[in-house]
Amino acid sequence: MFTNKQVFKEAFLNKLASIRGKTLQEASPMDIYLAFGKLIMDYTSKNWAQTNLDYKEKEARQVYYFSMEFLLGRLMGQYLVNLGIREVCQEGFKDLGINLEEVESLEPDAGLGNGGLGRLAACFMDSLASLNYPGHGCGIRFKYGHFEQKIINGYQVELPENWLREENVWEIRRADKAVEVRFGGNVRMEVVEGKMVFHHEDYEPVLAVPYDVPIIGYDNKTVNTLRLWNAEIADNDFDFPSFTHGDYLRVIEYKRSVEAISQLLYPDDSHHEGRVLRLKQEYFLVSAGLQSIIRTYKKKSRSLAYLHKKVAIHINDTHPALAIPELMRILIDEEGMGWNEAWSITTETISYTNHTILAEALEKWPVDIFKSLLPRIYMIVNEINERFCGQLWNKYTGDWQKIREMAIIADGYVKMAHLAIIGSYSVNGVAKIHTDILKKYELKNFYEFYPYKFNNKTNGITHRRWLLKANPALSDLIIECIGTQWIKEPEGLIDFLKYRSDSSILARLEEIKRNNKIKLAEIIKQNNLVNVDCDAIFDIQIKRLHAYKRQLLNALHIMHLYNRLIENPDLDIVPRVFIFGAKASPSYHYAKNIIKLINSIALKINDDKRLKDKLKVIFLENYRVSLAEAIIPGADVSEQISTASKEASGTGNMKFMMNGAVTIGTLDGANIEILDAVGSENIVTFGLTDREVLTFYHHGGYNSWEIYNSDERIKNILEQFVSDFLPAPQGEFTTIYNSLLHNNDEFFVLKDFAPYVDAQNRIDKLYKNKQKWTQMCLVNIAHSGRFSSDRTINEYAREIWNIKPFTSK
Ligand SMILES: *Cc1c(COP(=O)(O)O)cnc(C)c1O
Repeated sequence: MFTNKQVFKEAFLNKLASIRGKTLQEASPMDIYLAFGKLIMDYTSKNWAQTNLDYKEKEARQVYYFSMEFLLGRLMGQYLVNLGIREVCQEGFKDLGINLEEVESLEPDAGLGNGGLGRLAACFMDSLASLNYPGHGCGIRFKYGHFEQKIINGYQVELPENWLREENVWEIRRADKAVEVRFGGNVRMEVVEGKMVFHHEDYEPVLAVPYDVPIIGYDNKTVNTLRLWNAEIADNDFDFPSFTHGDYLRVIEYKRSVEAISQLLYPDDSHHEGRVLRLKQEYFLVSAGLQSIIRTYKKKSRSLAYLHKKVAIHINDTHPALAIPELMRILIDEEGMGWNEAWSITTETISYTNHTILAEALEKWPVDIFKSLLPRIYMIVNEINERFCGQLWNKYTGDWQKIREMAIIADGYVKMAHLAIIGSYSVNGVAKIHTDILKKYELKNFYEFYPYKFNNKTNGITHRRWLLKANPALSDLIIECIGTQWIKEPEGLIDFLKYRSDSSILARLEEIKRNNKIKLAEIIKQNNLVNVDCDAIFDIQIKRLHAYKRQLLNALHIMHLYNRLIENPDLDIVPRVFIFGAKASPSYHYAKNIIKLINSIALKINDDKRLKDKLKVIFLENYRVSLAEAIIPGADVSEQISTASKEASGTGNMKFMMNGAVTIGTLDGANIEILDAVGSENIVTFGLTDREVLTFYHHGGYNSWEIYNSDERIKNILEQFVSDFLPAPQGEFTTIYNSLLHNNDEFFVLKDFAPYVDAQNRIDKLYKNKQKWTQMCLVNIAHSGRFSSDRTINEYAREIWNIKPFTSK
């Protein structure tokens, strides 16, 4: 449509006039952003409508990806890239004196997620559409996404992130498609014609209104839909409960309590949030999503008996596991189906991804809370549980302990992972090691009972955002070398390997990295008022702040380098810039304390002239998708140093390798598969293995005092933490000190310290041979194709969902 920039300019100026009523001279940057956004929506509307029409007519199966989180980030840039119109728009804007990048930067990140799990859902949306799969997203339109982080005096401060302050140009409200979700009340049972029927009464109705967001495929005509649900009060409920009695304030209060459901995303990553409102959100999501799926399905007047042939429902972690009893409720109570038939349809429709083995992340809900919020759903879960326990009894007669361990309801709790496994036909882990641990330890009993359900799908990232869009210079070089086929078939990146000994390509690769580092240095200068040396190694750890991710181990190594440099300022090491970005959950005090520790170390080090600028520490505030896109292309070293067995997969590790950073990592999650792909010469690994870690746990941990007493370096650093050495209040870091010594060092920070230092020394040596180093970068890039979410989605499609790419007849 935008065949040339002339056409684009005219269309843009018309749009600006028609929706903002302004000429270019009068337009504010926000006017320009919004008008351009509307223009992109217009541009895509025809394909969106056509895709919807195609899917309506489609006879084959379609997948609905249910996720509490979709960490989308900004959409404008990705839309332009996928539509193939970024350049023509950029050129047209240039003529008008507008800088496209500045326009793009006005978009707030859609921060509807915490970290890896939510970002995975977003990458999957891009791959589904780009591969022409009939795949829909289903989530919640949180008014407040992930909080905005400010660093004040070294401490994290959280501010509400009102991303909907300006109009959200990418969504379309579909009030006509609203559905009602019911909470609380009672269930009355009645026998009608010899059949038990269930009446849900005195419930609180909540209106779920969908907002649809287009997911535009790359260079194709597919525009899929991400449907985000908003909680509202129905107009005809507005007298509920007591408007007629003139109790105006109570009505407003009631309205607020309803809207609270889609008010905020809980800011916990890998941690179970036990508030009732969270359970309400979970049911709201699945009930609204399922009702709308069933309604669409029935429009074709097909029998519900074949639902599973047309519909696949995937649940991203256990957060949407209530999809299982909710689908049962709809089939039984609303469609009059018998239990057995409903159960066989449900368990052929739903599949489940497990994301973590951390005990504190496992969702369990107290029975009394569950029962009073969702009385009918509780009855169904109870029935599922009783039937399942009956099966267990047949197989493990008398083994009460095993049966109690595997039950859905036990010790006063509803265990969501058990419900998810029992009610799904597929259970997958997110990296080989993670799936193996699930089978061997965490879910051993379930694996024994349902071996055929378990499978692995190693995570991936969309290379169209994390390479093509985030790193245009590198993409151009790759295209120059191997063409553009890799954009559609990312495993084709392997052809780039041919250039591993081509010194002119290596020189250009090095130059690209350096330019990206210069850009990153500008961001650092702007935000942190620190000048960094672009010839230094940019060593980066960006991810949620979590004890198991061991930002603390990184901090210990920085202190160690500092102490060495103070002892010998002429020490022959490559200068380093250590860069961190991380949000901590507001209630996770230990994690917030580590942020303060890193910032205190930064303050101490960055001003110390004796170091001759060989060491800098930078904490970039408000880590989020758009910041990740700016940081990662400038990375030399990717820090992936979780305690082995704890990081199910990781996806940050994949983004870095794809941008030519070398990983320093433990043998955990997808790091192991990255090692397999690039070979041990092109990654630096260290530390305890998962087996060693699990064996220590089995024997009650290890004695960290022994390490403290035998390693002077560690002793020094830990004493520096609790003396007045760092610029922080006295005693600020006592908890951290105690966690390492008096609390047994649960995450083996001290145990892995020496191997980590050795690994860092290897990095230093490797970097000194710059040509060799750049070759390692190239090898990493060339092998990154298998970590594209296109590969992951193709596997899900073939091996779990049984869906095929859509082709028009
Ligand atoms: C990729 C990504 C993550 C996940 O990073 P890990 O290192 O795998 O934990 C978290 N947050 C954002 C913003 C991301 O882009």
